[in-house]
Amino acid sequence: IEEVTVLTFEHFYKTLPEPLWMACQPTPVKAPSLIAFNHSLAQTLGASEVPDNATLAQWFSGNTLPPGADPIALGYAGHQFGNFVSQLGDGRALLLGEVVDEQGQRRDIQLKGSGRTPFSRGGDGRSPLGPVLREYLVSEFMAAIGVPTTRALAAVASGEVVRRQLPEPGAVFTRVARSHVRVGTFQFAAVLRNEQTLKALADYAIERHYPDAAQADDPYLALLEAVVARQAALVAHWMSVGFIHGVMNTDNTSITGETIDYGPCAFMEQFDPQKVFSSIDEAGRYAFGNQPAIAQWNLARLAETLLPLMQTQGDEAVEQATQAIHRFTDIHADEQRKRQADKLGLSSDSEQANTLMASLEIQMAQGKMDMTATFDALTQYAASPGAQTHDAVLALTTQPDALGAWIEAWQAECVAHQDAARWEAMRHANPVVIPRNHRVQEVINAAYEGDYAPFHTLLAAVTKPFEDSPEARRLAVPATSSEQVLRTFC
Ligand code: AMP
Ligand code: MG
Ligand code: MG
Repeated sequence: IEEVTVLTFEHFYKTLPEPLWMACQPTPVKAPSLIAFNHSLAQTLGASEVPDNATLAQWFSGNTLPPGADPIALGYAGHQFGNFVSQLGDGRALLLGEVVDEQGQRRDIQLKGSGRTPFSRGGDGRSPLGPVLREYLVSEFMAAIGVPTTRALAAVASGEVVRRQLPEPGAVFTRVARSHVRVGTFQFAAVLRNEQTLKALADYAIERHYPDAAQADDPYLALLEAVVARQAALVAHWMSVGFIHGVMNTDNTSITGETIDYGPCAFMEQFDPQKVFSSIDEAGRYAFGNQPAIAQWNLARLAETLLPLMQTQGDEAVEQATQAIHRFTDIHADEQRKRQADKLGLSSDSEQANTLMASLEIQMAQGKMDMTATFDALTQYAASPGAQTHDAVLALTTQPDALGAWIEAWQAECVAHQDAARWEAMRHANPVVIPRNHRVQEVINAAYEGDYAPFHTLLAAVTKPFEDSPEARRLAVPATSSEQVLRTFC
């Protein structure tokens, strides 16, 4: 029988010194069965032929690996909720290898939940089904709205029980990323106190992600600046759609500027800058409104690791790195202003975007307005201003008089009423349907009963997030108070 080569694996990361990685095999699972496979993503990764579901389930549970895979667990450290842990690493994940996609972009293929590794510490190396489904839905939604993110290639039920607070069904998730190099990877290299290893990692990141930095006077300072710019843009994008990551530890901060590690993440419903969903974020460190400052703090931890490699040394190096970190504020503000203009249907150079958004945020907070529904209603109003669309916006607030005054001020500035291109930009900044927390929970509950139909229905809707259909409208309705999900788990 001829062997089917679906993905052409390469193993560039293995040119880096150990212990940045360690070879490790997955632990087979009892009864793998395919929940979902992302055929369109697979195609962009060069897979023209895809085997049957039974084979996919074997491959993407780790029971038998796809040809050419050579799994390794990656080492990393990290600040978890502000506390430094010098060794974390892939405790339940394995990098199968890298694939060059149709755009020439190198992408990592990683199993998550595939068993214990040398970095597992006390953990079981497994993933419960619920978080696997959440990651699949939310990461594919983020990709659909254009937020840089890791992708979902496959989800496979393991046929095994995973013990958390309660016994839960297990699953294995396959993640695709531009790479899995994190701020925590640099922190890991830094604590090894081996400058060659640190330099090899930094050179790898430059070559793979920021080749222009290699031409700079100081490539390592340029690397820092480039990561700062990507992260500042990323977090502005998150904030524009009400995304709360939930675990912004330095090991979950990607060097590529992609969103990574969908654990207890959630989307804000009623607008509230203090909002927290994660069951493990007791102090609210990673609350919605804290995210830009936390990202900047994480980047300062990256800067510290790069100091020994920088061209200048001592105070001068610290000064340059500090300036690079301070630039986060301006880049973030700039990105935020562009996103605000798009969300409000204003011309991109409007000076009112910031002021109008700030006063709308007050309206949303005071009037207990659902963030996604608010921007969707404004988008519909901009498409056809009239009594009906106007009333639909007012119906979302408990303070219609104050909101009415805001609408008047906004209308005077909004160009999306007349400008088709601006309206298009507004529509694409304001999704109709998002993976609302209660809908995700509903999908998980059904899956725990063996019914995956709600998962596939929600996945289809959130991957066409701007489409205005009856199904989208059904899924777009905010949770009633009894449906509301207040806590998320990873
Ligand atoms: P996270 O909070 O998902 O970023 O994970 C933090 C660290 O805990 C990482 O090093 C993970 O690999 C590790 N980890 C999380 N869950 C498990 C598990 N079930 N078994 C082993 N390691 C785990
Ligand atoms: Mg993580
Ligand atoms: Mg996680």
